[in-house]
Parts: sequence; C-alpha cells; structure tokens
Amino acid sequence: MTAITSDNLGRAAIRLPMAVFWPATFLAVAWGATEYTDKVPEVIRGLLIYLPYAVSLVGAIIGWRFNRSRLVFSLIAVSIGHWMMTGPASDIRPGSSGEIGYVAYALLFPAGLLVLSLLKERGLLTRHGIIRTAIFASLAAAVLALAAADQWLVKDIAASVQRVTVQWLSISMIPDSWIPETRIPEPALAAFIATVAYFIMRLIVLDNPPLESGALGGLAAGGLALHFAGNIQAVSVFFTAAAVSMLIAAIQDSYRLAFVDELTGLPARRALTMETMKLGQRYAISMLDVDHFKKFNDTYGHDIGDQVLRMVAGRMARVGGGGKPFRYGGEEFTAVFPGKTAEEAVPHLDALRQSIEDSGFTIRAKNRPKKKNAKKKSNGGKRVSVAISIGVSERSDKNPTPEAVTRAADQALYRAKKGGRNRVSQ
Ligand code: GH3
Ligand code: MG
Ligand code: MG
Repeated sequence: MTAITSDNLGRAAIRLPMAVFWPATFLAVAWGATEYTDKVPEVIRGLLIYLPYAVSLVGAIIGWRFNRSRLVFSLIAVSIGHWMMTGPASDIRPGSSGEIGYVAYALLFPAGLLVLSLLKERGLLTRHGIIRTAIFASLAAAVLALAAADQWLVKDIAASVQRVTVQWLSISMIPDSWIPETRIPEPALAAFIATVAYFIMRLIVLDNPPLESGALGGLAAGGLALHFAGNIQAVSVFFTAAAVSMLIAAIQDSYRLAFVDELTGLPARRALTMETMKLGQRYAISMLDVDHFKKFNDTYGHDIGDQVLRMVAGRMARVGGGGKPFRYGGEEFTAVFPGKTAEEAVPHLDALRQSIEDSGFTIRAKNRPKKKNAKKKSNGGKRVSVAISIGVSERSDKNPTPEAVTRAADQALYRAKKGGRNRVSQ
C-alpha cells in the first residue's frame, strides 16, 4: 500500500468529497424514498421487499461473469441481511428469537466488508475463491445454527447459549447518552466506525477507488437498514441502496480498468479513440515521446523507467490550452486539442516540454539504507534530466481524419527527433 504523503492528501482533498458525494446523494434519495413508501400503492409496496434480491441477483451475475468475487460476496451479505430482517429476525425485541440473528449480523456485516476490502481479488471459481466461499458460508451457517439452537440443542442449553451470545454481542461500555439512539449494539457500532474510518483512509491513499466509495455507500446504507429494523419498507429501501451502491461501483471500476492507464493514471488508448470520435472540424493532435528512454531503462532499471513515465504523465495532466492528455502506449503520449490549430497548440506544448526539462528526475536508491547500515554507500539522490520531443499537426484538407492527423503528428515527431530532440515540431 502507498504511504500517506502530502501529495496524496492534497489530491485526496479534491477526490474524497467527490468519492463520497455519489454514495451520499444516493443515500439521501433512498432516505427520501422511505418517507413515501407508505403512500405508494399496495402492489408496489409488496414488490419493494423483493427489490434488494433483484438488484443483488443482477449484480451477482455481473460479478460472476467478470470474476469479481468481492461484489458477489457483498451482495450475498446484503441479501442475507434483508432476508433475516424481513423474516426470521424481523422481531428483535430483547429476548425474542430474532434478536440473536440481528446482533450477530450487525457485527458481521461491517466486519465482512472490511475483510473483503483487505483481501486481494482472486476470482470466484479459483482455489482462493472457493476457500473464501467456504469460510463465508460456514460463518453464515454458524449464525443460523446459533439462531436456531433451540431446534437442535436441549432447550435449556440452547436458551443459555443464546442469552450469553446476545449479552456479549450487545455489551455496552459507553454511556448511552454519548451515542445516538439506535438499536444497533455497541460492538457492531464500533465495527461500523472502524470500517468507515478504514474506507476513508483507503480513499485518501488510493488513486482511483470506486470500489471503496461503493463499499462506503453500501456500509452506510446497510447501517441505516439495521437502524430501521422492524420497518420493512425502510429496510427494503436501504438494502436496495446498499446493493445498487456496490453494483455501480463495480461497473465504474470496470470502466476505469478499460479506459484508464494503470501505470500513469492518464486516460488510455481506448479513451483516445473515443475522444477522436467527438472531434469536430478543427483540432490539433500531438505525439510526445521521451528522449533516449531506452537508456533510462538500461541504466537504472525498468522500475525507474516507470517512475519517469509517471512524472511525465503528471506534467502532461497539467498541459494548458484545453489539451487532453492520453498515454498512447510505451513511452509515447498524445495530447489532443479540440478547437485549436497546431499553431495555437504549440506554445502550450512547448511550455509542457520546458516544464519536464526543468523538473528533472531524482534517482533514489532501490534499497534505501536503514539506520543500522546507514554507512553503506547508496546510489540514491542522483539528479538526471528528462526530455521529450513533440510533433503536432492539425486537421486540414490534406489530413481530414484523426488517423491522418495522428500520422502527420508522428512524422513531425520524427523531425523533432532528427532535429536534435527536446523540441516541438510542426
Ligand atoms: P528516442 O529518443 O529516439 O525516442 O529513443 P528511445 O530510447 O526513447 O526510443 P526507443 O523507442 O528505442 O525506446 C523506447 C523504450 O521504452 C523501449 C522500451 O523498453 C521502453 N518502454 C516501453 N514501455 C515501457 C514501460 O511501460 N515502462 C518502461 N519502464 N519502459 C518502457
Ligand atoms: Mg518511442
Ligand atoms: Mg523515446
């Protein structure tokens, strides 16, 4: 996992509100919907109770097809919760048969989402996936066995086992006045708070975390469903919200996989293809190529080469003149300028070239010396220069299509290389 740096925190200050915005909006709408559930016709209200299952089923099929075990497990957890809270655990008064299922689920739901986020995605029908399925299934079976203990255990023993479990799972250590009025027991609340904190930390540390904001939305919605225990409409609305939030996040994440370059975070070649379809009568396309990049790889290794590409991408993301940056492939990048001539794009491209030349790159030691062998000589801290060459061309009668303009930009790039590199050619 990446460390929390000031750079990360700065980006998170922009990203975090956006990441939380959609789940929060969605929850607000779901909340509003609970107000109206009494007023909607009986037929629709009757269907509402099936909605969490319907969304979960659609999501689970998508998750299965795309090998997203986290989505499948999360949706199964939502469905189990909905089934319990509208069925066997709908009556959660102290001492009732539903109480034990409720307190156990309230703790296991946030804990499960936390564990799913910690585990690497390993697919569903793989060895890891099957082991996980077995673990989650045994956990669910244990809760069910506990809730139905009186069916298979001597009545007195069953009752005391259940009583002790409920006591432990709803143990109260904080004065009631300190926490909002809710039926969710304190250990479960603690699990919710810890998981929310963990997801927010992930949102700060990770670059593009739709799955985490979806999990956060699902967590909040699931918490509200638990809070409204006994109100079947509210429970249905919030578990639906939880399932939708997780499903949308998985779809967004698939989009990211297809259209965002993993190494640099810039839009990838596919996104460029989409962009060129939207271009009108006037536009410029530029091709950028890192100078003598092979030497970087050969001298400092592939990892340092990757870091150079990230640095260049970071500068490209800030190109002016309405330029849209893409990673074309390898050490080649593209910037598209909709509505601009090549002439108009050149100053912005030259500023970009200059900023990369000025920023340079510091080679850090692969194994930074630790305190105990600090005397060991390191090859860290060496400053090297990075330069790029750029070719740019515009749409014209000679080059009427984005493909032709790109080819012309490539030829201009070749001229920039021939002319001595670290320059912009038209
Ligand atoms: P020139 O100035 O003429 O552009 O020389 P160059 O060395 O940059 O050109 P060349 O095309 O010969 O080398 C490109 C190198 O980029 C070859 C390949 O190993 C490296 N490369 C391509 N993609 C990646 C990547 O994703 N990461 C790293 N580290 N290297 C890459
Ligand atoms: Mg090249
Ligand atoms: Mg190159």
